[in-house]
Amino acid sequence: MVLNPGSTIGVLGGGQLGRMLAIAARRMGYRIHVLDPVEDCPTAHVADLQVTAHYDDIDAVKQFAQHVDVITFEFENVPAESLNAIAAIHPILPSPEVLHTCRHRVREKQFLDSNGIPVAPFHVCQSADDVAAGLEKLGAPAILKSAEFGYDGKGQIRIDTPDAEAATHAWQTIDAPLCVLEKFVRFSREISVVCARTTTGEFAAYPPGQNDHANHILDITTVPAQLPDHVTQQAIELAHHIADAIGLVGVLAVEMFLLDDNQLIINELAPRPHNSGHYTFDACVTCQFEQQLRAICGLPLGDPSLLRPAAAMANLLGDLWPPTHSHSPSTTHNATDPNWPAMLAHHDVKLHLYGKQSAKPGRKMGHLTTMADTPESAQQKVIAARDALKNI
Ligand code: AMP
Repeated sequence: MVLNPGSTIGVLGGGQLGRMLAIAARRMGYRIHVLDPVEDCPTAHVADLQVTAHYDDIDAVKQFAQHVDVITFEFENVPAESLNAIAAIHPILPSPEVLHTCRHRVREKQFLDSNGIPVAPFHVCQSADDVAAGLEKLGAPAILKSAEFGYDGKGQIRIDTPDAEAATHAWQTIDAPLCVLEKFVRFSREISVVCARTTTGEFAAYPPGQNDHANHILDITTVPAQLPDHVTQQAIELAHHIADAIGLVGVLAVEMFLLDDNQLIINELAPRPHNSGHYTFDACVTCQFEQQLRAICGLPLGDPSLLRPAAAMANLLGDLWPPTHSHSPSTTHNATDPNWPAMLAHHDVKLHLYGKQSAKPGRKMGHLTTMADTPESAQQKVIAARDALKNI
């Protein structure tokens, strides 16, 4: 199946990922319909149509599917019943099976492990006793993670002592029916490989990026990660192996830990464009959103090469805004607003804002990207531009 420009793409979820997909898609002459429960969501600003409905509203979801040619998602927790109802109408890509695996930490770990992909040693837990048994097997420290609904460090707790009391406390704090206990691995860096694969098995990967977090949320991505050549190659090979094994059609982000001995282990998969790939919008021949579009439309992939030797991205969180700020356009400058003119005086840094109505601490409101001759200088530039937002 090939969907040429002019076709209509349906997106489940209307946040920043859908918004950037819509921008890339509209540039290429596609139409975009989005389904999201919140009216005037970030994707709706650049889409042809928003259907405002909950993901479990089967009638609304079916109606939505009838008016598009292919469906993709940016929200990973769409109920299986809704996906099944849509799949009978039009293809969902990546497939519901891929989503089923990646949105569930236990299934994801078991899939990786059974395909010979290195992961942190783990133990599946359905009770506090299981956690205690896992601690005995893996030792402490360890991390208990809920199987579902965890992101940005939510739904997980670190356990520092291998006793029954600590196990019970962690189990009760997580308060989820199924969890995975992971050995706490000592890593030197976190990296990710964002890649794309088509129905014909064509594969393309962006260079591994180095991800630095603050309060469990991605803060800065710097590309390319400074790695020995064989590690860079291995990271891309691992992503390729995973994309093939899972039967990916679309974009996949593979988060990895680089251990002190240069071994790589996989932390998490996200079967969609990823925050650590946002720099590709400005810094690559083909961005991750255009790759997603090309893959789900049955088209050849684009060139993922960097336009300059290095690039960096800095997230803009709601913490940069005053506490009760409305994000609606305004001509009057509030003294506590982020200082946009000062930031934009950094003339080779690009601003992306997602059009969210209100800013909250920890909420992803936008990001900055830049290119440079070295990763260090790209990182410094993007941080300096972000710091300028705080100049009052
Ligand atoms: P996750 O939600 O699985 O991406 O985990 C959030 C963050 O917790 C990661 O980015 C790591 O910094 C840390 N983390 C997760 N799992 C482990 C682990 N097994 N060992 C050490 N740190 C971890």
